[in-house]
Parts: sequence; structure tokens; C-alpha cells
Amino acid sequence: MKNIAVVGTGYVGLVTGTCFAETGNNVICVDIDEQKVQKMKNGIVPIYEPGLDILFDRNIKENRLSFTTNLKEAVDRSDIIFLALPTPPGADGSADLSFVLQVGEELGKIITDYKIIIDKSTVPVGTAEKVHAAVAKHSSVDFDIVSNPEFLREGFAIEDFMKPDRVVIGTSSDKAKAILEELYKPFVRQGNPIIFMDEKSAELTKYAANSFLATKITFMNEIANFCEIVGANVDDVRIGIGADDRIGKRFLFPGIGFGGSCFPKDVQALVKSGREENFDFEIINAVLRVNNLQRTKLVDKLVNHYGDLKGLKFAVWGLAFKPDTDDIREAPALYTIDKLLELGAEITAYDPEAMGNVKSLYQDKINFVDHQYEALENSDALLIITEWSAFRNPDFDKMKALLKENKIFDGRNLFDLNSMKEKGFYYESIGRKTIIG
Ligand code: NAD
Repeated sequence: MKNIAVVGTGYVGLVTGTCFAETGNNVICVDIDEQKVQKMKNGIVPIYEPGLDILFDRNIKENRLSFTTNLKEAVDRSDIIFLALPTPPGADGSADLSFVLQVGEELGKIITDYKIIIDKSTVPVGTAEKVHAAVAKHSSVDFDIVSNPEFLREGFAIEDFMKPDRVVIGTSSDKAKAILEELYKPFVRQGNPIIFMDEKSAELTKYAANSFLATKITFMNEIANFCEIVGANVDDVRIGIGADDRIGKRFLFPGIGFGGSCFPKDVQALVKSGREENFDFEIINAVLRVNNLQRTKLVDKLVNHYGDLKGLKFAVWGLAFKPDTDDIREAPALYTIDKLLELGAEITAYDPEAMGNVKSLYQDKINFVDHQYEALENSDALLIITEWSAFRNPDFDKMKALLKENKIFDGRNLFDLNSMKEKGFYYESIGRKTIIG
């Protein structure tokens, strides 16, 4: 059993804290957001993440998981302090380290004995040194700074944290290494590795992983765009290349661009880190350019099809940046909606989890409905933006009855082309031929 504080209780911090509590540790989670902390104290999980609520309830009941807004209270009770703080893009695209460094300084003023301070936020190479300096500015107590980047995926966060493919730990301290090895042992019982390295390599591993995945998606989007021009079918191309083990089947599905709280900001931050060292990431720059165009791909298709979009009504299925989350940060849906509103279209949207977050951004600029089919009433076409499971096998007869015209513009390739033809839909998707049903 270890005493752990987790600073920042967002998607990463709350999952980290809850999962460490689940393996028998005493965890106290700290956040500056008083409302959020009050909610958690009242037993309410403040984010949507499948499976989190069960672990959250159990560990609160077992007194292994608690919450506070008071950093000192949490630090005094803990030997290990995880930082799971935001590192949003600054105005120039570089990672904004102010949250991390500010907490580093506060920790320097608070700690009175040896602590391991572990950075779980995604941060540029050299941040561990900066955090070390921030803590040391106010403290002469012995402490170690460790870089332990997090690879969990929203929507699968519990599974990813409890059974990670790998744990990456960047540290030059043998003492911290031994303690962290013990802490993470229960999570790698199946034999997945805990990979130790220096702090800088750990920091870069996270950016390299996200940039590689963003590149893989973007590569496939570009192939899909070319498929449309030459009349090839991207599904076949995807299966054809994915059968090669060196390429792999995963992350090859084309769509309307990557979004979310990680890929766009991390890819940009890596480019920016490169520039600071006079190094130009040519591939990654291209990835950003292609993705920017891809995010409004459905709008391009609509303009090609209709010409003027003014006064047209579109139903939107899916707002979250991907299924099984309520996160809308950098979601392709937002880029699509902004462009459609600019062109004078009307939007009625449905998402199983993310409508609250989108409502607070758009208020009454778009309409929201409680059921997916309601969005179709009197709409000129349906746009599919997020591939929630509930959209995969819908009642097509009902859809036909509700839509003004049987038209679907699908940014996630949910439906089979032949069956759309049989069902009599006009159907445009990504990297496949248009069906004129
Ligand atoms: P988030 O925005 O969901 O949560 C951050 C939390 O920190 C918020 O609750 C906020 O109130 C709190 N906070 C801000 N300042 C604070 C302070 N001074 N003291 C205490 N709490 C404070 O962020 P997130 O998505 O959990 O991401 C955190 C970090 O992890 C980022 O660097 C991100 O890039 C990285 N990351 C995120 C994911 C993901 O899927 N979301 C995956 C891997 C890594």
C-alpha cells in the first residue's frame, strides 16, 4: 500500500487515482475546480468514462479514494504525487506548461520530506528539468521528478490503465525506480513491460506515439481522398494493406480527420518543439495540413452536391470527437458545424453523451434533440460525424419516413454500399463511390 496524491482530476487524473486505489493504495485526488470536487465528494463521477463509476464507488466505500481542493492536505498525506494537469496549446501551438510549473512551485513550498513527483501530463522534452527547478526554487528537501507519460484512450481508459500495453517511466533515480516498479506491478501481471528510460526519452516517447498514430490516420485519409478521385474503394485498400503484419489492421479507418484533446495539440507541440531547436518536422507538418482540410470534408461534399447550403436543414449524428466519450475538444463535429453555420445551414444534432458540452458552446445556434431519429424530422440529409455503436444498425425505414430526402453523408463509413443501394439511399462516404439509390 502506498499513499498517493493525484493533482488534477480530469480524464487522466481521475482514472489514475481510481485505478491506483483499486489496487489497494490510499489515494487523494486534488482539483482546483471546487464544483467538481464537491460533486466527487457527493459520489458523482464528473466525466463520462465507461466502467469508471463502478471502481469509483467501490474505492470511496472502501475509504481508499478521497477528494480535496487543498493541495497541502493531499501532499502531507502522500509519498508519491502524480501531476495530471492540463497542458493545452498556447497561442503559438507550443504546450502551455503554466499549470504544471505553477503546481511545481506550490509543491516546493509545501513538501517537508522526500517525495516522488511524477509528471503524467503530456509535456515537451526538458519539462522534468523545469519542474525540478520550479520545486527546488522553494525547497531544499530531497525529491525526485519522474516522467511517466499516460497512454490511455478515452472510452477505454479503465481497461487501458488496468492492463496497459506498456508503462513508460523516465527517471535517473534508483530509489524512484524501485518504488514505481512496485506500484505498477499489479498492472503488468500478464507480462507487458515496464520500460525504464531517462526523463527526456520518456517525454518524447509520448509525443512520438501520438504523432505516429496521427500520421497513420492521416495517411489513410489521404489514400481515401485519392480513392474517390480514381474510383477505388478504400475499404478494400485498407483490408489489403492491413493484412501485412508490418502495417497492421488498426488505425487504418478513414474519416473526417483526427480530433480530441491529445492528437491535435500533441502533434502541434512536437512541431513547435522542433522549431525551437531549428528542426523542421516535415512529415508531421504535412499531417497537420492534411488533417485541417479533412475536418471539413463533409461540408465540401455537401457544397459539391447542393451548391448553396443556405436554408438547408441537416441532422447531425455524433458530436463527441470519438465514440464512448463526452469529450468534444477539437472534435471534427465542431469544425463541421462552424462551417455549416457560416454557410447558412440549419443543424439539429444528437449525441448520446456530448450534447451538454456542445450546448454550452453553441446555446441556441443549433437545435438539440433527445433521440437520434428526432433529428431527422424535416431534415434535408443526415450527416454522420461520430461512429457511436447506436448509429451502426439503425431503422432505415424510419429514417426514410422522417427525412425530407433519403440522403446520408457519412464521415465514418458506417454502412455497406450495396445495402445502401438496395435500401434506396443517396449515400456519400469517405473514399468510396457515391451511391445514387
Ligand atoms: P482535463 O482537462 O480533463 O483535466 C485536468 C484537470 O486539472 C481539471 O479537472 C482541472 O480543473 C485540473 N486543474 C487545473 N489546474 C489545477 C491545479 N492548479 N491544481 C489542481 N487541479 C488543477 O485534462 P486530461 O484530459 O485529464 O489531460 C491531462 C494531461 O494528460 C494533459 O497533459 C493531456 O495531454 C494528457 N493526456 C490526456 C489523455 C486523454 O485521453 N485525455 C491521454 C493521455 C495523456
